[in-house]
Amino acid sequence: MEHLRVSEALGIILESVSVAGVETVTLEQSLGRVLAEAISANRDLPPYDVSAMDGFALRSADVANVPAQLTIIEDIKAGDMPGKTVQAGQCARIMTGAPVPQGADAVIRVEDTQEVAANIMQIDKVVKSGNDIRLQGEGMKNGEVVLQAGTEITPGVIGVLATVKAARFAVYRRPRVAILSTGDELEGMHDPVDPNKIPNSNSYALMAQVQALGIEPVLLGIARDDPVELECYLRHGLEYDVLLVSGGTSVGVHDYVRPTIEKLGVQMKFWRVAIKPGHPLAFGTTSNTFVFGLPGNPVSSMVCFEEFVIPAIRRMMGNLRLHRRTVMARLGHPVKFRPGRTEFIRVQLTQDAGGYIANSTGTQSSGALMSMARADGLLVVPFDSTGLLEGELVTVQLLDGTVFQDEIGFRE
Ligand code: AMP
Ligand code: MG
Repeated sequence: MEHLRVSEALGIILESVSVAGVETVTLEQSLGRVLAEAISANRDLPPYDVSAMDGFALRSADVANVPAQLTIIEDIKAGDMPGKTVQAGQCARIMTGAPVPQGADAVIRVEDTQEVAANIMQIDKVVKSGNDIRLQGEGMKNGEVVLQAGTEITPGVIGVLATVKAARFAVYRRPRVAILSTGDELEGMHDPVDPNKIPNSNSYALMAQVQALGIEPVLLGIARDDPVELECYLRHGLEYDVLLVSGGTSVGVHDYVRPTIEKLGVQMKFWRVAIKPGHPLAFGTTSNTFVFGLPGNPVSSMVCFEEFVIPAIRRMMGNLRLHRRTVMARLGHPVKFRPGRTEFIRVQLTQDAGGYIANSTGTQSSGALMSMARADGLLVVPFDSTGLLEGELVTVQLLDGTVFQDEIGFRE
C-alpha cells in the first residue's frame, strides 16, 4: 500500500466518523458541549424601547437649538414603568435599561446636561431622534432562532442560553475513548524503575490530549507484544467508541496490532501516511468503534493525535469546526528538508511588530518529548518543500486553545 498524503488520510477518517448521538444536559453541565437543537428566543429583548444611558428622556425637537431648558417630570429606574407622557419643554430622569416614556424620542446622557434650578435641566448638546435608545427586540426577537444546532457552548453561549431560560437542552454525546499502550519494553507508572525499560508516557500524554477535548478517557494499561494478550486487551478496547492503540503498528515481527485487530473484525482503512513524525499510523473501523493505531514514538503519537484524532473526535462531538487554528509566522532559522512527506516541526512562537516568529524547540527526533513539551505550535513543512529559509513565511498550527477553524489551514 502506498503512503497516503495527510489530507487523504484525514479525508478517509472524516468520511468514516459521524456524531456519536444526542443526550440532554442541564445548562450548568453544558460548557464545551455542542448544541444538537436550535434554540429560540422566548421574548423580545429589550422587552420595550429602553435607555442605553443614565440621563434624560426628552423630545429631540426641544433640543434642536441649545442651550435649552427642560422641566423634569419624573424619575424612571430600570424595572419601573413610566407613569407620565413627556410633553414639549419636559424631560424624565432615566436610568440605563429603564423604559423610555411616551412622548420622548431620545435620551441624552447626564454628562451633557446641568441642573440649573430645582427640577430644571439645561441641555447643552443637540441630540437626534433615537439617540441612546435601545429598541424593543434589538437584541433578540421573540421566536427567532438565536443559536443554531452545531453551536459550540462557550461562556458567551451559556449567557445567551440563560437569557432565553434554556435550562435543559439536547447536545451531542461525547464519545467514550479508551487508550491502550503496547510493547514488552514498557514500564508502568507504578512499576519499579528499570534502566532497561521505557516508561509508558504515551498513555498519559494521550490521556491529556483527550481530556483537553473535554472527554475523560479510560486507560486500559499496557499489553505485551504477545498476540494472545493483545487480543484480550483489544477485545476490551473495542467496547468503546474510539480506541487509541499506541505502538506495535509498524511492520516489525513483533508488531501484532494490525493482524490482531483485523482478526477481531476491524476493517483497516489505511496504515501508512506520508507524515513525519509518525508514519506508521493505522485507522480502522467496526460498526461501533473507530480504531487508531498510533506510532509508539512519543512525539509521533502526539502529532498523529493532533492531526487525525482531534478532527475525528470533534466531528463525533458535533463540532463543525474540526481543525486547530493556524497562524502565519516568520521562520527564525533555515530548515533543511527532503521532499516526500509532510513534516510537523515543534516550534515556540514569539511576536514582534511584524507578527509571529517561529523557532524550533530543539532536537526534533520523534522520541524527543521535550520538543513537544516546550512547543506552542507545529510548523507545517509541505510535502514537496526542498527546505525553508530564515525569514520565510510559514504556517504554524497552534497546539493549545479552544478556538478551532473550519479549514485545515495549511498546504500539505
Ligand atoms: P513501536 O511503534 O511499537 O515500534 O514503538 C516505537 C518506539 O516507541 C519504542 O521503541 C519505544 O521506545 C517507544 N514507545 C512505544 N510505546 C511507548 C509508550 N507507551 N510510551 C513511551 N514510549 C513508547
Ligand atoms: Mg512496540
